[in-house]
Amino acid sequence: MFAQKHINFKQHLSEICKNPFYAGLLSHKLLEGKIIEGKHEKFITPEIFRKVNEMQSKYFHGFTWNMDNQKLLLKLFYMCDKCKTALRGYIIRAKGLHYYKCNTIGYGCNIRATVLEGKFEQELRKYSIPQEFVEMLKYQLTATFNQLIDEKEERDVNLGKEYLIKSRKLKRCKNDLR
Ligand SMILES: [Zn+2]
Repeated sequence: MFAQKHINFKQHLSEICKNPFYAGLLSHKLLEGKIIEGKHEKFITPEIFRKVNEMQSKYFHGFTWNMDNQKLLLKLFYMCDKCKTALRGYIIRAKGLHYYKCNTIGYGCNIRATVLEGKFEQELRKYSIPQEFVEMLKYQLTATFNQLIDEKEERDVNLGKEYLIKSRKLKRCKNDLR
């Protein structure tokens, strides 16, 4: 009924399309937000990069951690097998029960959270990591996690700066109008 096998490739592809490096471009803290053309081989054309990013900023709002998600861990992660859209979560307050469903009317994808999560856990149990790779994997996961957090913090700082610049501009405009 449900499958999540589509998500990995899509995620990788979107990572590649979001990273200017693959379009032959370089951005770095030292360049102060500027993007320059690098000398390395391009994986995708700058044109595709621009198009994908335009589309993504329009349709993709990313995954943000939200305390409400704690009871619905697979929300927006698991794909409905029939319509290939990410499952939403909801709660029936009267019963205090959480459910997942897709947004496509008529497909009847509706499943109790604990049931789907149980199935997911069973699926995960099929995979085991050889003992000799455990430390390496922990190290890599920590590095990836830290990198994601860093990028987010950097974005936050940049947004803060941008906000300051814009509010100063707004102030000047208001003064000019007086
Ligand atoms: Zn569906």
